Amino acid sequence: REAEDRYIQANPRSAAIHGASQAAMPGGNTRTTLHYSPFPVCIRSAEGSRVTDVDGHSYVDFINEYTAGVLGHSDPAVKAALTQAIADGLTLGGPSIYEHELAAIISSRFRSMERLRFCNSGTEANLLALATARHVTGRPAVLVFDGAYHGSMLYFSHGASPLNMPIPFFSTPYNDAAAAVKAIERHAHELAAVIVEPLQGGAGAIPGDPAFMAALRDTTRKHGIVFIMDEVMTSRLSPSGVQGRLGIKPDMTTLGKYVGGGMTIGAFGGRADIMERFNPTAPNALPHGGTFNNNVLAMAAGHAAFTKVLTPEAIDRMNARGDELRQRINGLAAARGLAVQATGLGSIFGIHFHRGPIRNGHDLDEGERGREREISDLKTLFQLDMMAQGHYINRRILGNLSLQTSAADLTAFLAALEEFL
Ligand code: PLP
Repeated sequence: REAEDRYIQANPRSAAIHGASQAAMPGGNTRTTLHYSPFPVCIRSAEGSRVTDVDGHSYVDFINEYTAGVLGHSDPAVKAALTQAIADGLTLGGPSIYEHELAAIISSRFRSMERLRFCNSGTEANLLALATARHVTGRPAVLVFDGAYHGSMLYFSHGASPLNMPIPFFSTPYNDAAAAVKAIERHAHELAAVIVEPLQGGAGAIPGDPAFMAALRDTTRKHGIVFIMDEVMTSRLSPSGVQGRLGIKPDMTTLGKYVGGGMTIGAFGGRADIMERFNPTAPNALPHGGTFNNNVLAMAAGHAAFTKVLTPEAIDRMNARGDELRQRINGLAAARGLAVQATGLGSIFGIHFHRGPIRNGHDLDEGERGREREISDLKTLFQLDMMAQGHYINRRILGNLSLQTSAADLTAFLAALEEFL
């Protein structure tokens, strides 16, 4: 309560904006994930690795737009490309000079995406990939994994969201290859697709075991089921995503977040024989619209990001820094014998007040049973404490680095964490 009182005292403008925003938005918020009690800080501006709120506090950003902010804030090359695109005119209503090049770069990095199409969000990319898989296989159902987040209407935390698409879904525990293979073999005749996050983000930054991912690839191939890797969040984990790290080629891949250089974007693609069904000159071509699919700001910003900033070396450096951060967090916790651990891969991390192995959300639930209140209080305290010391992190303690997160930013974060421990 004391920490919360201090937070309220320190953030009068954010409190007022939150109060006013209740009038037209439920809970004063247009994205459930951005809410935390008593109210979230309202961000006014951002530059490099930092964000500044309306009460004037500057934070090192560990939220980074929920992993979309790979570039950090206000990258000069992306800003210049956007300025040029704005000067040339918006909402052009035809193919522009950018999209074919952006598509070609993405296809060259994510080799499974032999052909791809753009859309407006990761959610839309997943909905389109699933609809495509259902069409090409003529089968209705989809295998997902407990805890998965593929978008607001494709959400499987502790059961299925009431808003989920009316598609027959089967689900098995994440990282349990035997259970997945069994479910696939049992339901093969009705399964259109298996969709998986190569690292479950929302469920706690839990990486997929290479053997689990390989089992999904092999079993789906055997049964003619479309294997979809949702790399909306994980494509940042190597220059060619987690599929590149693992050497696994899915039938379809979905992207979003940073590939538009910070602008609104989604992309879905895969095997040429699947995606060529969208070719408007193909017999019975599949219809795929979307007024803003090739909106010039996303195309120009994405193009600048990939050609000028997101070099393979820069991506590798960012992920190596994340690996080191995780190692050091775990070192600090182990030295004190505390039930605290960092999960994740490369530049994505989660911090859990949990001792045992974390292979999926069930492990977390099991380890936290009977300690729910304590853990919720610890997370609240941790977030408020870290924010008071200038580190912007969410209450679930799922964080990530950007290309701009510096060694000094990480040293300060680790010092604050050590103090908290
Ligand atoms: N899939 C995954 C794995 C995600 O992490 C997200 C967003 O966090 C989505 C899909 C949905 O993307 P969007 O928020 O762009 O709709």
